[in-house]
Amino acid sequence: MFQKILVANRGEIALRVICACKELGISTVAVYSEADRNSLHVRFADEAVCIGPARSSESYLNIPQVISAAEITNVDAIHPGYGFLSENANFAKVCEASELAFIGPRPEIIEMMGEKDRARREVKTAGLPTIPGSEGVVEGEEQLAKEAARIGYPLILKASAGGGGRGMRVVRKQDELLAAYQTARSEAQQAFGTPDVYAEKFLERPRHIEFQVLGDQHGKVIHLGERECSVQRRHQKLVEESPSPALDAKRRKELGAKVVKALEKIGYTNAGTVEFLMDEDGAMYFIEMNTRIQVEHPVTELVTGVDLIKAQIRIAAGERMEEATGEIHHSGHAIECRINAEDPVTFVPSAGRITTFQAPGGTGVRVDSAAYADAVIPPYYDSMIAKLIVKGRDRAEAIGRMKRALEMFVIEGIKTSIPLHRRILADPDFAAGKFDTHFIERLLGTNGK
Ligand code: ADP
Repeated sequence: MFQKILVANRGEIALRVICACKELGISTVAVYSEADRNSLHVRFADEAVCIGPARSSESYLNIPQVISAAEITNVDAIHPGYGFLSENANFAKVCEASELAFIGPRPEIIEMMGEKDRARREVKTAGLPTIPGSEGVVEGEEQLAKEAARIGYPLILKASAGGGGRGMRVVRKQDELLAAYQTARSEAQQAFGTPDVYAEKFLERPRHIEFQVLGDQHGKVIHLGERECSVQRRHQKLVEESPSPALDAKRRKELGAKVVKALEKIGYTNAGTVEFLMDEDGAMYFIEMNTRIQVEHPVTELVTGVDLIKAQIRIAAGERMEEATGEIHHSGHAIECRINAEDPVTFVPSAGRITTFQAPGGTGVRVDSAAYADAVIPPYYDSMIAKLIVKGRDRAEAIGRMKRALEMFVIEGIKTSIPLHRRILADPDFAAGKFDTHFIERLLGTNGK
């Protein structure tokens, strides 16, 4: 087992990884930017190294700085969390070259899944259903016209290197196609450094359902059930739950088995998420795979009893699946609300000093957060400041528990998305489990803008 791990991240996920290391008796090294000197992840790690100015490109994304921090402190492994360097194949390679274990899949797999058009092809070959679309990147106007005629309208152009809900463009009519293609390419170039886009059929009212997987280094892959993530705003998840109200035991088993088989073929290792869209007829199609731990991993932890971060660490250290996860028993229902520092109506980020921070507790309530009273939320990073997660014996109990936990959560000094979550949880369609990815637009009476 590793002696010392460097956590190449900040905020709640850095703290979460430090907690897992503490429980495993592993020493920790935090890295931080100048804006994060007073952060909890810095306080709770055994050692901490400042890696640069506030701007992520000069600190949390600065590979030479992160690697030197690892070398100075003599760690054996790096946990990248989510975001930042977590899906950067080059970083994983540099770790390998520096004889540091990267806690995640192998660089070739990160690369494969990071090119979303290639990922589609690979998983299709491995037996997963994909949305009808272009074979790969759409190369030029001639191919664009051909693919569009084959796929039909509406279709969606997606950046091959895209992520975080960005770089997507819906095309409803042929006369919009060319302009959309050009805009999509220049947006992709700007945001992701490559203009490559691919085309896919646009599903009007899909649900987003994803499978959590783990693969050990001895060829064994398992899935830990699914998460329902259809409550989104601008393709960004707001509420996640497990299990999905839209899957029954039979479908879960069928699809789960396909996922496991496909990933065994690919040779997947460590934690990952296979994302699907479900159309109105219940058909499921792969959209992408994330090769890291996800923000919403706690809902899976609560319904399976598996500590996913510990499992990641154990697997990276070479342990077999049974050791890494222990026995798995699925039970109950879990829901997570992402609490963002933002105006609940306009969604404008709300940085500043938190004056009051009273997190709820009690039976079945978990709060993953690095926020505290008097902490300053810097404007430079993601606006998520806490995850409120509850578990109930069934969905109805989980909803009741989430409502009361939201009521008891007091954050003052900045604006948060708590009032929006209270509206979501009070909605009859949400309670009935009847929703798709456009639920929030309907709730707010907007087109999501
Ligand atoms: P990202 O990597 O940016 O998260 P995804 O491919 O995972 O992008 O898609 C994010 C969200 O965008 C999905 O959850 C869904 O709401 C929407 N989306 C993506 N592809 C389609 C599609 N073909 N039809 C309808 N909605 C889509």
